[in-house]
Amino acid sequence: MEGSVQSESQLTESAYRTSNGQNGDRLAAIHHEIEYLNTIGKRFVAAFDRFQVHHALLAALQELYSFSACCILLKGDPFELSIIPSYPLSPSFLEAMIQRIASAASVIDFPHIDAEQLAKTAYLDAPDELAFPRPGHATSGPEIGSCLNIPLTVENRIIGMLSLFDEKQGTFDTHLLQMTTMIADYAAVALENVRLRERENALWRQAELERQRLKLIIRSMAEGLLITDAKGTIVSLNQSAQQLLAQAQTDFSAGIPLYQLMETSSVPWLPRLTEIVNQALAGKTVTNQEIVVGFSGETVPLTLSISAAPLLDSSGVRPKPIGVVAVLNDVTSVKQVERLKDEFVSVVSHELRTPLTAIKGYTQHLVRRIERRLRKIRNAQPEAEVPVAELPESYDLRSLNIIQSQTEHLERLVSDLLDLSQVQAGHLDLSYEDFYLADLLAESVRSVQASAEQHTIELDLQVPDTKIRADRVRLGQVIGNILDNAIKYSPQGGQVIVRLQEQKGYYTVSVIDQGIGVSPEHFDHIFERFYRIHNTASHQYAGIGLGLFVAKAIVDGHGGHIWFTNNQGVGSTFHFTIPIRPRTTRPLSL
Ligand code: ADP
Repeated sequence: MEGSVQSESQLTESAYRTSNGQNGDRLAAIHHEIEYLNTIGKRFVAAFDRFQVHHALLAALQELYSFSACCILLKGDPFELSIIPSYPLSPSFLEAMIQRIASAASVIDFPHIDAEQLAKTAYLDAPDELAFPRPGHATSGPEIGSCLNIPLTVENRIIGMLSLFDEKQGTFDTHLLQMTTMIADYAAVALENVRLRERENALWRQAELERQRLKLIIRSMAEGLLITDAKGTIVSLNQSAQQLLAQAQTDFSAGIPLYQLMETSSVPWLPRLTEIVNQALAGKTVTNQEIVVGFSGETVPLTLSISAAPLLDSSGVRPKPIGVVAVLNDVTSVKQVERLKDEFVSVVSHELRTPLTAIKGYTQHLVRRIERRLRKIRNAQPEAEVPVAELPESYDLRSLNIIQSQTEHLERLVSDLLDLSQVQAGHLDLSYEDFYLADLLAESVRSVQASAEQHTIELDLQVPDTKIRADRVRLGQVIGNILDNAIKYSPQGGQVIVRLQEQKGYYTVSVIDQGIGVSPEHFDHIFERFYRIHNTASHQYAGIGLGLFVAKAIVDGHGGHIWFTNNQGVGSTFHFTIPIRPRTTRPLSL
């Protein structure tokens, strides 16, 4: 900033005083005043930053008085104090000014201001020769002779304070107070404008920085990103999306509406992508929709998992979709691993099944033989000294029954594993046959009971007839899985009840146990694949988390329903319903 300011209006202090007061013509005075205000108004309007405002303020005030320094205190966090000297000031004068400003400010509108704090935030807005006078150069005296403080207000809001100081006494005439206040008002508005402009610039810079950062993230993302407008026209594709879609041998580029691409190209998966985009445009968020975009000849074709969300314009009363952001993820390698895993599980399960069938067959054979032998002994010596139950054959029979029960348990596990891929593919084959559900329940109870010595399993049949048409083997798997759990998750032993009821064309089977029960946070999940409850207590229970998943798939496949409830006292009850006659879920084509 310049040290002294030339008046653009050529209006000197004395000229102003002459025209304004003593013997001058009133009209001339008004004319001068208008000219003066116009000139300083222009300077304030032209000021682009706070230094230019200070410059304009100093120039305007120097038209009125000659003073030592002008100070501007601005509210803020922290508040700022600018000191604009007219000539070099002595340190003690500076100190005295700050003391005065602190006490005047606390009276005006700054309740907790303190001189020491203020000194830290103060800065000199002056050329070097005024700020750091050479040794021997004249500086102001130490004392303040006169002082004037005026609040800086914008729309009745105090934004700061203007303070003028001079070494001499009586510098600030009261008859110029009105004019000085007017200048302070101009300065306040100009300073507020500068502050707003600075804030706006900072916001712009911040927004630009964010934009650049976002651009970089999008460009370096491994996921493909596709953005459309409200009509489904692709407006932007990142590099990954371009590469992914190029692999699918499709010429995708920005500016083409998807529906138009669909019409002109024979890419079979385009309608699905268009559908996902349309769903998002309708306001729905679509997650992880898989699309096979590769060739069908490949073992594992290129597969994309697509998630899409609407871009919403929230400026109106109701948010309006103005486009879609879709994220494309290449999940081919995941599919490859899944496929290998499924193949492995399927091969291993098949391999396990063959020896299991043999073990089961031979055990059954041995059981029959021992039963026959025991019958013979009983018939030959009805009054024998040793009771039949204590004969070595009876012990063998009990051991064989346990082997048989455990083999059946193992068989169910293998079946669950084998069924997994079928269930996932959504086609579980069911072989319907007629049989009595009561017989199947009794068989299952007998099998599980054989290796559950601490438990008593009771069969409670509440229906006279139990004939059903369903997949016997698979229903056996469902009952077996639920019963296995009832035993496994009631380690203290106790009673398990298997109840059969009938209602409106359905049988309902309920398995009631007295075990550990299920805490509410797992209610929604325990029928999910591989879902197991992990807590310290559950570590002792072996399992793979497939039993209920497969049971649900089999029950659903029959058109039934499976659920569970926690018992009032202790334990839980698993229920499932099965239609007595198979139900057609396909629409009738007459
Ligand atoms: P798992 O092989 O773990 O038994 P399931 O699919 O049969 O797998 O069961 C899933 C989970 O549900 C189990 O890990 C267990 O935590 C819980 N669960 C199933 N049945 C019962 C039950 N009768 N009582 C308590 N928790 C059970």
